Amino acid sequence: MSNPIDGGRRKFLKASAMGVAALPLATLVHQRTVKAMPQAEDDHAHDYVNDAADADHPRYEEGQYCDNCTFWEGEVENGWGECSHPDFTDVLVKDKGWCGVYAPA
Ligand code: SF4
Repeated sequence: MSNPIDGGRRKFLKASAMGVAALPLATLVHQRTVKAMPQAEDDHAHDYVNDAADADHPRYEEGQYCDNCTFWEGEVENGWGECSHPDFTDVLVKDKGWCGVYAPA
């Protein structure tokens, strides 16, 4: 006859092992997604620059950066993040970058 406590413990250990095994897979899938996104180059669209200090545009005002723009979706790694503007969804943009469709968050 099996001990009901052992059965519960066995189920817990099995569920824990499956959870631990799933973590590296989830990390790999996420990293693959991130690596598939190239970093934007200057002039990608709308006079984009990776360094706002290089912005040469009549709309640019000091203090405007991708990371305080309404389209900024958050950093992915090393200051590079996602932008939800349709012309930037296939690239990562720099947190201190800027482009001509900047809109304050
Ligand atoms: S829309 Fe905003 S976050 Fe996207 S590239 Fe332009 S300034 Fe940066």
